[in-house]
Amino acid sequence: MKESNIEHIRHTLAHLLASAVQELYPGTKNTIGPAIDDGFYYDFEFPADIKISDKDLPTLEKKMKNHLKSWTKFTHKEVSEKEAKDIFKDNPYKIELIEEISKKGEKITLYTCGNFTDLCRGGHCDNPAKEIPNDSFKLNRVAGAYWRGSEDNAMLTRIYGLAFPTKLALDDYETMKIEAEKRDHRKLGKEMSLFTFDEDVGAGLPLWMPNGTVIVEELEKLAKETEFTGGYLRVRTPNLAKESMYKKSGHLPYYEESMFPPMEYEGGKYYLKAMNCPHHHKIFDAEPRTYKQLPMRLAEYGTCYRHEKSGELFGLMRVRMLEMNDAHIYCTEEQFADEFRAVNEMYLHYFKIFGVKKYVMRLSTHDPKRLGEKFVNDPVLWKKTEDMVRNVLIESKIPYIEVPNEAAFYGPKIDVQVWSAIGREFTLATNQVDFAVPARFGLTYKDSDGKEQTPLCIHRAPLGTHERFIGFLIEHYGGNFPIWLAPSQVKIIPVGDAHHAKAVEIHDALRKQMVRVDVDLSDEGFGKKVRQAKTSRAPYFIIIGDKDLAVNKVTLESRDAGQIGQLDQNEVIERILSEIKNRK
Ligand SMILES: [Zn+2]
Ligand SMILES: [Zn+2]
Repeated sequence: MKESNIEHIRHTLAHLLASAVQELYPGTKNTIGPAIDDGFYYDFEFPADIKISDKDLPTLEKKMKNHLKSWTKFTHKEVSEKEAKDIFKDNPYKIELIEEISKKGEKITLYTCGNFTDLCRGGHCDNPAKEIPNDSFKLNRVAGAYWRGSEDNAMLTRIYGLAFPTKLALDDYETMKIEAEKRDHRKLGKEMSLFTFDEDVGAGLPLWMPNGTVIVEELEKLAKETEFTGGYLRVRTPNLAKESMYKKSGHLPYYEESMFPPMEYEGGKYYLKAMNCPHHHKIFDAEPRTYKQLPMRLAEYGTCYRHEKSGELFGLMRVRMLEMNDAHIYCTEEQFADEFRAVNEMYLHYFKIFGVKKYVMRLSTHDPKRLGEKFVNDPVLWKKTEDMVRNVLIESKIPYIEVPNEAAFYGPKIDVQVWSAIGREFTLATNQVDFAVPARFGLTYKDSDGKEQTPLCIHRAPLGTHERFIGFLIEHYGGNFPIWLAPSQVKIIPVGDAHHAKAVEIHDALRKQMVRVDVDLSDEGFGKKVRQAKTSRAPYFIIIGDKDLAVNKVTLESRDAGQIGQLDQNEVIERILSEIKNRK
């Protein structure tokens, strides 16, 4: 089924819902009802004595299915502002919409199907009865919503529905939602003491707790190793800079809305950094460069601050401080394809480590009609870089889709979308090719003829930000992190006092090898110790009892695979160390 069809189905179902509401609750005022990502909604003002709740939904749904049978054809007609106002004279919401449409000089159209007519721009199924399977949608919840999202307006009742092309797709979606709730990163983050927020620190400013910090630092270690092997150089830059730099970079004034307000200091303005790029450009520019130094790859887990509206903050997914797996690659045009290919290979390397099986790259390109306005006016370089990027994607057999007219101002952009283990989609990172900003910063290198040239710059951040990436990983693993990332890697449980000495010996041996291991030497009963150890979600448990001591072995149990059995102590240590080292 085409994407557009599902849009049409969802939009049509919003009409169908309004028609059911009209029949069951006469006097209700319809307002607006769009299609959304997983279905549709419609906002209503019900008569004052009617209070709709979730338990009314089955009746409404039944009525919708009933109406659907006779919905075989949409008809529409254009009307004048006066005619439209006459028809909707009892509905101040529609009157407001009609006035707006007519002020914009647009046509006012009414769409009718069955016995129901609504003010609408169109975009429906031609024959809803035939095109909409009557078991592939359902009403799922009721919520309050202000008219047009403003607290100053009336509070309306919003009824949400889910809609998919088939019943199977609807069922799969609902299963995924239930699983996603269990794996909600905010819920697990709290249960596992990974991160917290505090009012005195400020909304959207996450505090990483010791357990979460383990994950942050393991990711940085992975990035450092991978980047070192890839020939990157590490740098460190301040968290703020003067106004003049952000003017040069173009962040001011264009990006000002997304930045924290400036602070006045020593007669000038300082801004918290919203992006690392300008700082890295300054490092490139700090010394004279020659072609022999290129490609130069500068990497930093850089801290950025962004102004996000408080209503849009969401756990780790939408925050005001983020630490980005950033790097900028300065290269010549001849080097570009190889550099871009290496960046893609780095992505694939990471996907393998994290078991990401489904991913796609969205290549955003420019629109030649909007050169000099939305896009830097350099048609030759646009063509060249877009061709290079596209060719590399094709050659590397990476799944990608192309979206015209969505490039960044200064070059093509590649958004990387991945799916978690339960099939939910995340946008993790963006890569950009930049052929304009290096020039604004006056970045140059001497080519082999001694002539000054401007380098290209690739912005890349395969692991995105710690915040978003760890939010993704929490859901992806359902909190059961692989051993190299797990805050607690091994729990040792001696059955009784007689087994403490052996337990401590193994504990110390593992600690010496930097393993995050604990031993439970408390007086609690064995059963309780086991239960407690399991709440840690540690990947391995080592149990030591009489039967183990008798044969000079220990019992190994795995979080994911269950009982492994009696093994030699050194064998257990080897196995754990090797899995950590290989990031299994
Ligand atoms: Zn419509
Ligand atoms: Zn950048």
